[in-house]
Amino acid sequence: MAARVGIVGAGPVGVVAAIACARKGMQVALFEAEREIDHSPRAATTHPSTLEMLAELGLLEEFQSLGLVARYFQFWDGATKTLVAEFDHGVLRGETPYPFVVQTEQHKLSELGLRRLATMPNVELRLGTSVTDLAQDAKDVRVTTQGAERLVFDYVIGCDGGRSTVRKCLDIEFEGYTWPERFLVLTTLFDFQAALGCCPRSYISDPEEWTNLFKWSRTGTSIACTSAWRNLSARAGCSLRGTQHTSTTRSGASA
Ligand SMILES: Cc1cc2nc3c(=O)[nH]c(=O)nc-3n(C[C@H](O)[C@H](O)[C@H](O)COP(=O)(O)OP(=O)(O)OC[C@H]3O[C@@H](n4cnc5c(N)ncnc54)[C@H](O)[C@@H]3O)c2cc1C
Repeated sequence: MAARVGIVGAGPVGVVAAIACARKGMQVALFEAEREIDHSPRAATTHPSTLEMLAELGLLEEFQSLGLVARYFQFWDGATKTLVAEFDHGVLRGETPYPFVVQTEQHKLSELGLRRLATMPNVELRLGTSVTDLAQDAKDVRVTTQGAERLVFDYVIGCDGGRSTVRKCLDIEFEGYTWPERFLVLTTLFDFQAALGCCPRSYISDPEEWTNLFKWSRTGTSIACTSAWRNLSARAGCSLRGTQHTSTTRSGASA
């Protein structure tokens, strides 16, 4: 009998894990607490080793068509606005078939993965279904959903993010620490490449206030513009926790 696998969370990790299991012939149920994938700005850069994995799963062509291919990345000095170093993924040619990164918003990977999963007969998609409890013994794993449904699986994969319910139910520690800085993430049509001369992935170093700039392409928008920038900044000494994000289409933002 095919293994029954429950996957909790339809972020990029859960969706990709679900596709990998389903392609191996497993019986997959994917639980996602929200009814729709969260569009808040988060990951924007996907590196060569991940691109190799997406290619193996047959997802790369579509994923790449939704993003920008970026071969170079740069480090800048914020105070003097001068280029410190430029790195070229091209030196990896021969090591990887993808000597570049793809820049796009992470929700596009989740959404294209969900579209793919919807076509697979051995997959059940449970959007809007939160997992509230989980217990395991040597034989199987029992999952409870917020609707008090009880389901049994051979395996459960917890992909439910930093505050994972699966992790807490299994009493697994969250190792590491939270950086004591508050980030501002904004999306703008302001063209940093034209203004600064930087490349589509640029890290601006500064002891007081650093910034990362990522260009990515806009799709499915009525705005007559094909690309936008993600600007992620933090100021030293600002010790509030968490991430604040905002989106703007104004073109007057400054670097
Ligand atoms: C501003 C910012 C920029 C970033 N930039 C990058 C980058 O450039 N490159 C990079 O690699 N990473 C980046 N990251 C990190 C990246 O976003 C995360 O590593 C990634 O989201 C983790 O994916 P995930 O699928 O594990 O979890 P998540 O994306 O957090 O998804 C978890 C999912 O589980 C669902 N869920 C939670 N609890 C339950 C439950 N009980 N039952 C059912 N569903 C549940 C949630 O609704 C959510 O959809 C960035 C993060 C931030 C905040």
